[in-house]
Amino acid sequence: MTKTYSNTPLNGNLRHPPRDKMEAMKRGARQKCPNCGEGDLFSAFLKVKDECSTCGEELHYHRADDAPPYFTIFIVGHIIIPLMLLTEIYIYPPIWVHTVTWIPLSVLLTFYFLPRVKAATVGFQWALYMHGFDPDERLKPDPHIDHEMLNEKT
Ligand SMILES: [Zn+2]
Repeated sequence: MTKTYSNTPLNGNLRHPPRDKMEAMKRGARQKCPNCGEGDLFSAFLKVKDECSTCGEELHYHRADDAPPYFTIFIVGHIIIPLMLLTEIYIYPPIWVHTVTWIPLSVLLTFYFLPRVKAATVGFQWALYMHGFDPDERLKPDPHIDHEMLNEKT
């Protein structure tokens, strides 16, 4: 059995109009709604709004999960580690300088990148009609919920 993804062409036609993935991710990186680019994506630091206050796009369907921390660690690591190594090679400071420099800088960069990366991830999912962003998927039962078990308990 082959898995069909949200916007897989059926008989040569896309099920939904294609969305610009890069534009959606850029809007996300600005922490704006991937659909209109105007409304704010977050209601708190990392809490995605249920829907856009400008265009009404439902945003609660995202499933960013562990992807944003993973990508943030990847980005911050690729900034910090070369700088740390170059500092060690050319300046060779005492170890306490490394401690008071790289740990706070890592934390600050993480707080800077994490919401932007999460928002870009949500934008990417929106552009690909992933999860509930695909109107057709909303009609199907959630595969992560055991409906038979729920019925037995009630
Ligand atoms: Zn919007």
